[in-house]
Amino acid sequence: MAGCIFCKIAAGELPSEKIYEDDEILAFNDLYPVAPVHALIIPKVHIDGINMAKEGQEALLGRMLLTAKKIAEQKNLKNGYRILTNVGEDGGQSVKHLHFHIIGGRKLEAKFG
Ligand code: 5GP
Ligand code: ZN
Repeated sequence: MAGCIFCKIAAGELPSEKIYEDDEILAFNDLYPVAPVHALIIPKVHIDGINMAKEGQEALLGRMLLTAKKIAEQKNLKNGYRILTNVGEDGGQSVKHLHFHIIGGRKLEAKFG
């Protein structure tokens, strides 16, 4: 989608520190990490957020979650980690392209803000 920074990252038009890529998914380090490990997983196709995911995108969403798990393994997050996605204004979503955060490498607080 024009003007979407994560679409630009997916297209290679903006740089990112890539962790994983396939034909449908890209994972890269968050620019402003809140923990020693803070990665983002995005679909290459533009979806505004999980609230806008459609029937038929189950496989894509499932692959994103399994990719999150694999990244956590690669990053050796044996003690645990968090996968989260913010939705809309009240959810604190600042980038309107679906992304799962994978956060770990330290003890996390504040499960619910
Ligand atoms: P949200 O607030 O929408 O849940 O998360 C957006 C995340 O994207 C934030 O954690 C923010 O640090 C990250 N972010 C914003 N712009 C960029 C960017 O240009 N590159 C990367 N790698 N991360 C970004
Ligand atoms: Zn986008």
